[in-house]
Amino acid sequence: MKIILDAGHGYNTAGKRTVDGKMREWEFNNATAKYAAEYLNDYKDVEIKFVQDTTGKTDVSLTTRTNIANSWKADVYVSIHANASGNGKWDDANGIETFTYTSKSKEAVALANKVQAALIKATGRKNRGVKTADFHVLRETNMTAILIESGFMSNKEEAELLQITEYRKKVAKAIVEGIADQYNLKRKAVQTFTEKTAIPSIVYEAHIQGTGWQGKKKNGETAGTTGKSLRLEAVTVKLENTEAKLEMQGHVQGIGWTTVRTNGEVIGTIGEGLRLEAIKLKVPGLNVQYRVHVEKDGWTSWKKNGKMAGTTGQKKQIEAIQIKLS
Ligand SMILES: [Zn+2]
Repeated sequence: MKIILDAGHGYNTAGKRTVDGKMREWEFNNATAKYAAEYLNDYKDVEIKFVQDTTGKTDVSLTTRTNIANSWKADVYVSIHANASGNGKWDDANGIETFTYTSKSKEAVALANKVQAALIKATGRKNRGVKTADFHVLRETNMTAILIESGFMSNKEEAELLQITEYRKKVAKAIVEGIADQYNLKRKAVQTFTEKTAIPSIVYEAHIQGTGWQGKKKNGETAGTTGKSLRLEAVTVKLENTEAKLEMQGHVQGIGWTTVRTNGEVIGTIGEGLRLEAIKLKVPGLNVQYRVHVEKDGWTSWKKNGKMAGTTGQKKQIEAIQIKLS
């Protein structure tokens, strides 16, 4: 799904700052939008676009912002702001509120409710509720749109919070939680496993002419040899700390492509004097890259998603292999 993150205003927008002038509203909005984009990147099938000038130099007009969202055909528009009340003096108004357009589309209200609840839970600030307003970005967007007021720049305590990285991250995370809940977003595999604190890794071992199994290598180390003209005859590859599935094939001298092999299976031959000429490797859900060192040619470029590394029909041996997760 396509999500617009809109950090309100620009750095120099008149008025939009804390009472003591220490922070511009744009600074909070933009930083929080960037954190939200990072958290959203942990989910599958999400595309994100900012509509603000992320350098802050210009305050992109509201019409331009909504035009970008409409022409991109976004599914959701999330506008991030900090609030203010009174007339330029510190005052008591405080808390967080989330807005939908006055016509209150069911989906927008549902999203706003989830985001608002997550914000209050995460920050412990006063719940000012979900409200409606005739704001341009809510009215002129063709998609579900909400606008979040994440605390008051005119409240001394909240003005300080709004400047703290941890608070910005909490707000961003809560917004993303609300979106993920509403649209049933699924986390990418790599994140799921990172959360269990075990980091996925890839372990592989090469069987070398005259040497045999050479010993385990991992995460980009070289398995095999270079500059010795020794053929790599077989390889075995294993993923650790992940349930992602490995699919791998090798092209063997005189035999051609092997069938698809998986975690820890041997690809190639042992004791038959046959060179491995190419490999293909794929791990749905993880970003695995690989390259091989081909006789006379040297290292190939990094490949991924089942693209061939090596050669076929050229009678050239693979001599070494590197595989990495990125
Ligand atoms: Zn604002």
